[in-house]
Amino acid sequence: MSALTHLECSFCKKEYEADELHTLCPACGKPLLARYDLKRVREEWSREDLAVRVASLWRYQEVLPIRNEENAISLGEGHTPLLRAERLGRKLKMRNLFIKDEGLNPTGSFKARGLCMAISRAKELGVSEVVIPSAGNAAGAMAAYAAKAGMKAHVFMPQDVPLPFRLECEAYGAQVMLVPGLITDCGQQARQAAARHGWFNVSTLKEPYRLEGKKTMGYELAEAFDWQLPDVIIYPTGGGTGLIGMWKAFAEMEALGWIGKDRPRMVVVQAQGCAPIPRAFEAREEFATPWENAATVAAGLRVPVAVGDFLILRAVRESNGTALAVSDDALVAAQKRMASREGIFACPEGGATLAALETLLAKGWLMPDETVVLFNTGSGLKYT
Ligand SMILES: *Cc1c(COP(=O)(O)O)cnc(C)c1O
Repeated sequence: MSALTHLECSFCKKEYEADELHTLCPACGKPLLARYDLKRVREEWSREDLAVRVASLWRYQEVLPIRNEENAISLGEGHTPLLRAERLGRKLKMRNLFIKDEGLNPTGSFKARGLCMAISRAKELGVSEVVIPSAGNAAGAMAAYAAKAGMKAHVFMPQDVPLPFRLECEAYGAQVMLVPGLITDCGQQARQAAARHGWFNVSTLKEPYRLEGKKTMGYELAEAFDWQLPDVIIYPTGGGTGLIGMWKAFAEMEALGWIGKDRPRMVVVQAQGCAPIPRAFEAREEFATPWENAATVAAGLRVPVAVGDFLILRAVRESNGTALAVSDDALVAAQKRMASREGIFACPEGGATLAALETLLAKGWLMPDETVVLFNTGSGLKYT
């Protein structure tokens, strides 16, 4: 069962009761993180016990926030394949290139991990109506889990979102509102609607549990690599939830005695038309300034401001990683190479990781003999 103890602010470290609904830290406005009694977990649970566990992210239930199993709303999320990219690797003279294929999650993206956890925990805490601002994948995932949980769902999407994303939400029974503008404009409308109607807002990092779902990617990587983490992880970053989550998972696993001190170098890739994190990284800033006129076909990367910007930047720096931007042409071309050489029809965001890898190899930032994991964060099908 869950070893959840309390919530802790990621910035000012103030602590809060876990079994109440929380959004951002009331004291400083930064994200809250779930904390667990890892000492107890370490005594009662070992990584060998995983062998008999369910093949989904629920195999790590002790370090997940759901207290009562009945509230765990599952569509079979997580436990995605870690595929060796042999043909792409050969071309790049790499023997240890891997793709974690998150496109195989329910609703076709890794947003399922986060929303599965947020909706399950919201249900556990008595929520019956939820709202989300989303560029597409998060909305579909929320709508699906809300449907399964019997909750009412409301979605604010940019009006230029590809049609399949909208149709999918409507099929799950969500109310869809199209907003002229970007994800940030959707965010503002979702906030207002939440305040007006009493809906719970599951905007990323503004509630503590989507991060908990996404951190399971870190547990899965460690398990798949037999507790020896890869040298480099290349992650297509929007709000940064997955990257921050994996970084948190590594710290938890070290506290559990499952891994040592070594960490992968964490690489943030964004699109040149919206690159607030690479810009802040290069300027050595703690926070990122909002990106003006954000534009890219990789909708999941079109995030001009991230609440967790300082957490992304911290993880990148502490890991000796880096942050870079690639052009839309490069990421779309790489998306096609991933499909034609590896049989993975990646989303454009997934393509961006391959484009970034090629740039970093050319610069000599990473060596062909290193073990590298690219994250394909979703299926390409909904972007057509
Ligand atoms: C949301 C999304 C991202 C960005 O994820 P974060 O963890 O919020 O940075 C990347 N790729 C796809 C396909 C997405 O839907």
